[in-house]
Amino acid sequence: TGSTRPQRLLKAVQKNASRGDPQSVISAIDRFCHSSEWAMNVGDEKGVILDSVVCEVSPGCALELGTYCGYSTVRIGRLLPPGAKLITLEFNPDYAKVARQVIDFAGLQEKVLLVEGPSGDLIPKMKEQYGITTFDLVFLDHWKDRYLPDTKLLEECGLLRKGSILLADNVICPGTPDYLAYVRSSPRYESKYFKSHLEYTKVEDGLEKSIFLG
Ligand code: SAM
Ligand code: MG
Repeated sequence: TGSTRPQRLLKAVQKNASRGDPQSVISAIDRFCHSSEWAMNVGDEKGVILDSVVCEVSPGCALELGTYCGYSTVRIGRLLPPGAKLITLEFNPDYAKVARQVIDFAGLQEKVLLVEGPSGDLIPKMKEQYGITTFDLVFLDHWKDRYLPDTKLLEECGLLRKGSILLADNVICPGTPDYLAYVRSSPRYESKYFKSHLEYTKVEDGLEKSIFLG
């Protein structure tokens, strides 16, 4: 059709959601993915778990690894307390371009900073270039082989504090075995699995919530 899936997803948002209403953006994307085209958003079912963790943590400063079209960015962004910030990292410029429009459409541009580039290069710049002290919440949802190296990088860069929460998507499907083994066996984390299903399917998947103990 000459367009990409993210572009078609954006069109569905522009057509079916209301500007400035994040919930309508989320619903429009979920409807598009259930009825037209599957897409790799955390989705509505795991999204409820994500929402409850965001509400529980009420982060002043959050990091998302892997923006794609901005679905989870909007989910997290809409639940942030006043004055809080979410930094989201995306290395694909075409996805970043769509995500910026989705985030703006939802009216969350003041709370969200989308930074384009590879997480491994950007994480070490968070303190100096982006003025971050530590992240209260990190949502890991980029390529699955990067969860573990980026977690170790966050630790080395001093971006986690005692009590920081890591929430990792897709720990079963496609799976992140090295990351899971690490957070479940390390004495520096207390870790718990939340069973659910892969976005827009009935295949088992889930989120792993890990508390950094310092
Ligand atoms: N969190 C999104 C949501 O639920 O709506 C979905 C993110 S999608 C599963 C993963 C995204 O991470 C892709 O858009 C990919 O381009 C991006 N990505 C993968 N590895 C990355 C890296 N090392 N740095 C930055 N972005 C990365
Ligand atoms: Mg995911």
